[in-house]
Amino acid sequence: MTAIPRLRIRDLNHKPVTGGGEYVLYWMVAARRTRFHFGLQHAIDLCRELGRPLVVFEPLRCDYRWASERFHRFILDGMNDNDARFRKAGIAYYPYVERRSGEGKGLLSALAAHACCVVTDDYPCFMIPAMTAAGARQVPVRMEAVDGNGLMPLRAAEQAFPTAYAFRRFLQRELPGHLAEFPEPDPLAACAGLPAGSIPEEVRSRWPEAQSAVDLDRSVPAVAMSGGEAAATALLDRFTRDRLPLYDTTRNDTAVHGSSGLSPYLHFGQISSHQVCTALFSREGWSVGDLSDSTAGKRQGWWGMPAATEAFLDQLVTWRELGFNNCTWLPDYDSYESLPGWARETLAKHASDPRDPVYSLEQFRKAETHDPLWNAAQRQLLQEGRIHNYMRMLWGKKILHWSEEPREALRIMIELNNRYALDGRDPNSYSGIFWVLGRHDRAWGPERPIFGKIRYMTSENTARKMNVKPYLARFGEA
Ligand SMILES: Cc1cc2nc3c(=O)[nH]c(=O)nc-3n(C[C@H](O)[C@H](O)[C@H](O)COP(=O)(O)OP(=O)(O)OC[C@H]3O[C@@H](n4cnc5c(N)ncnc54)[C@H](O)[C@@H]3O)c2cc1C
Repeated sequence: MTAIPRLRIRDLNHKPVTGGGEYVLYWMVAARRTRFHFGLQHAIDLCRELGRPLVVFEPLRCDYRWASERFHRFILDGMNDNDARFRKAGIAYYPYVERRSGEGKGLLSALAAHACCVVTDDYPCFMIPAMTAAGARQVPVRMEAVDGNGLMPLRAAEQAFPTAYAFRRFLQRELPGHLAEFPEPDPLAACAGLPAGSIPEEVRSRWPEAQSAVDLDRSVPAVAMSGGEAAATALLDRFTRDRLPLYDTTRNDTAVHGSSGLSPYLHFGQISSHQVCTALFSREGWSVGDLSDSTAGKRQGWWGMPAATEAFLDQLVTWRELGFNNCTWLPDYDSYESLPGWARETLAKHASDPRDPVYSLEQFRKAETHDPLWNAAQRQLLQEGRIHNYMRMLWGKKILHWSEEPREALRIMIELNNRYALDGRDPNSYSGIFWVLGRHDRAWGPERPIFGKIRYMTSENTARKMNVKPYLARFGEA
């Protein structure tokens, strides 16, 4: 197998690897898949080095913020796929679903007590950094976190980039060196010949594999879309075949489903951007030699691919990884104070402008505004756990327009996005929401009430620019 770049591996606790342990433990918390997986690949490398089996522990807590039936169903679908794949490869896999809050406490330590070392996922957002840091303190052996988040290792940058343009320039300089460092498509193939592992009996009997959580918010129900690695791969195949060739012209059209729909799978780590890029590269017959030499930060022309594919890569690589970059290097990425100075200044200048109407969180939640198009977007979020890409921008801008003040708009966007969107609680949740308030954007004229110099959007303009009737027919009031 190819070596994993050192830049992607972080020692979380500086404790020793103990040769006397029974197995290498991989604690799957964010990259919930079996393919194109640097973390799993690293754990298997360690198994081979130490002559020990692999044990994979994939837990699902029920008490994290915004936990609901919707996210559980999606993750459980993925656990079923993982179970089948690990079983086939002869790997001991322990999917643990916490039934009641706190029931899983002590489980990681109990498993790690038998381990030579622990490998986990490096993910810069939401509850994961605090959870893995706490886990690393508890376990008696070395814990390493592996970053398989994107094409560019998180720690290759050392600073938060303020704009997509600045980040694109950085990528165009640095990315070519990382394009040869893709993870193995099927790391489990290297498990052949490893000794068989098993879950310690005292662990199994104290924490039996549970089927469904009892303490869970059922007011956010599961959606029709299935989760899991198999569904993600099937969607990727359909998208590259049918929609990718028109992506640049249809992505923002509300009458069409032009985008990939991959964000929930990317969010839960059920597919990796390396797998998505591998599919694109193979479709286009592309190789690194096709890259342009220019590092001017242009959106088009750098990859040397058709315009539609380049437009998609700009979202998947530039915009998505900009979000990961900011979560890694901006300690307060989720606070209002992390907005650029010009944005805070202009919003403060207009904070006391009269607002009419003003809606509460509950009115927004129930899609009870005066605006049928906005309500349709909110209904799509409630029903499907996603919002059409263009409508999501409008959705955020109108929350800014109709909230009491900008900090309240931020609170409302975070609450609704992270509670209902399958892809919420992600670095790109914060990129998108803070973009509404000026992050990664520039000042726009003319200066307007409430928005100041923040980019402005209206439902009327949207309806003028595109045919919104099909969208309203689907998600409008019954
Ligand atoms: C207010 C607001 C909230 C948002 N919240 C989220 C969120 O919670 N989770 C989330 O993943 N994205 C979020 N976005 C960004 C964007 O809307 C979604 O990533 C995109 O609509 C997902 O659909 P798709 O997978 O079909 O995207 P595609 O157009 O097919 O793009 C492919 C992938 O590129 C990435 N991507 C696309 N657009 C963006 C973008 N503008 N910024 C960053 N990455 C992007 C995503 O990973 C996406 O899956 C938000 C945007 C706004 C304006």
